Amino acid sequence: MMKWLLQGLKRQRILASSAPQTSPKLILTEVCLRAIRQCLLPEIERKHEGITYLLGRTNGCITIAATAVRPEAQTTSGSFEVASLAMARVVRCAAKLNLQVVAQVHTHPTIAFHSKGDEEGARIKYNGYASIVLPDYGQHLPSLKDAAVYIFQDAQGFVLLSLGDITIAPEIVL
Ligand SMILES: [Zn+2]
Repeated sequence: MMKWLLQGLKRQRILASSAPQTSPKLILTEVCLRAIRQCLLPEIERKHEGITYLLGRTNGCITIAATAVRPEAQTTSGSFEVASLAMARVVRCAAKLNLQVVAQVHTHPTIAFHSKGDEEGARIKYNGYASIVLPDYGQHLPSLKDAAVYIFQDAQGFVLLSLGDITIAPEIVL
């Protein structure tokens, strides 16, 4: 009986983690985009690669990012590094707000794309977790002009989103 139950649970988990029916979507608030700029501003000005994390909620397919948190990081013109302790602080910030760490945002000196290092070095990977790469050290913020936006899916890894899969929610609708 127990074995049957366990097998059933295992099967449910497999079904739950299988590819979603619709393509993944990312919703960003305008407030969040401005917060990203504020978090990255020191690196934008120094022309260093920058990193910030977004807090929000995801059901694995639709991810909503509400706010941004600036981690303590070592940055250069061509790299960034977030230590485990700094990462733990980001996770604690999310937990305090009853939110999840739903995305990372980092900048590149020129064009935006997920490099091999970005794929392998992502500290967090789970269904619905987004990764936003901004070109030109993020200087176009709060615009996402020429950004590359990905969402992690168990079956495929980081999937590149098209513009239609990204919604920017205005601060107010009149
Ligand atoms: Zn990168």
